[in-house]
Amino acid sequence: MEGYIFEAAFWCQECTTEIKLDLEPIAEDDRDSSVWPQGPYDMAREESDSPDHCDRCQKFLENPLTSDGEAYVKEALLTQDIPEWGEFYSYLWESKPSSDELPEGSLGQYYS
Ligand SMILES: [Zn+2]
Repeated sequence: MEGYIFEAAFWCQECTTEIKLDLEPIAEDDRDSSVWPQGPYDMAREESDSPDHCDRCQKFLENPLTSDGEAYVKEALLTQDIPEWGEFYSYLWESKPSSDELPEGSLGQYYS
C-alpha cells in the first residue's frame, strides 16, 4: 500500500488526492511535507512503533512494526477488538499464549 506524509502524519492515497485539490497549488515542490503532501511511500517499508492509519479517514496503511510496535499491538488487542490489526499482524500470535492468559472472549478469532 502507498502512503503520503503531510503535516507530520501519514495519509492514504485517496485522501491525498482530495487534499491536493483543496491546497493552494505550489509553483515548486520543495519537499516540505508541511506545505505539500510528500510521497508516495511504500508503506511496506515504513517500519513504525505503532500501526499507521490515514490521518483523515483512519484507513489502516498496513505498515510493518518495530519490536516496540509489536508489543504495543499485542497489548492493544488484549483489550480492544481491532480486526484489521489482528489480521495483518497475525504472525504475532504464532506462539499461542495459554488460554488462561487471555481475557474471556478476546482474540480467539485470530488463533488458528
Ligand atoms: Zn484517508
